[in-house]
Amino acid sequence: MKTVTYQNKTFTLFLEEAKIQAKIAEIAQKINQDYAGKSPLVVPILNGSFLFAADLVRHLTVDPEIHFVSISSYGDALSSSGKVNIFHDLQVEIQGRDIILVEDIVDTGLTCQHYMEHLRKSAPASVRLTTLLFKPETFKGNYQPDYIGFEIPPEFVIGYGMDIAQQARELRDIYHLK
Ligand code: 5GP
Repeated sequence: MKTVTYQNKTFTLFLEEAKIQAKIAEIAQKINQDYAGKSPLVVPILNGSFLFAADLVRHLTVDPEIHFVSISSYGDALSSSGKVNIFHDLQVEIQGRDIILVEDIVDTGLTCQHYMEHLRKSAPASVRLTTLLFKPETFKGNYQPDYIGFEIPPEFVIGYGMDIAQQARELRDIYHLK
């Protein structure tokens, strides 16, 4: 089994590039159906979602506007701190707009919940969330993601945008810590 080592930890191959890419095409198809005739604001949450967002938007036919935000709850730790910082917020008017937040992974869901509540104060028409990975067993949020790539067990994963101490984001496949 293919493995990689970071921070003295050995990670095992979990989701291969081809499987990830096929799932992203499926998510995009649903978004294209649901937002036909609309021009949603697609809002990737940096840093982890940059690859997912880049691959997702290239399948979209709904004429999206793309704006990045930077929020974080983990720091360099391996589990959620529950503390959310907004480093870079949206710089556009969102009143009456349809927003699709793009996350790499929803674990407790608290990061997204905090940011969705912040956005809703500006009266967007709608706010939905897509995430490539979802950990249902650790989810504690009020808003379930609307478009989910893969439901996964509560294990720490890296690759395809997701880091360990800022490393491993460039990996094409996703690895988990067993
Ligand atoms: P939540 O607030 O849902 O608990 O955490 C969301 C954020 O925590 C994600 O955007 C991601 O940055 C980070 N995170 C959660 N689980 C993992 C994981 O298994 N691996 C990595 N690298 N980051 C994770």
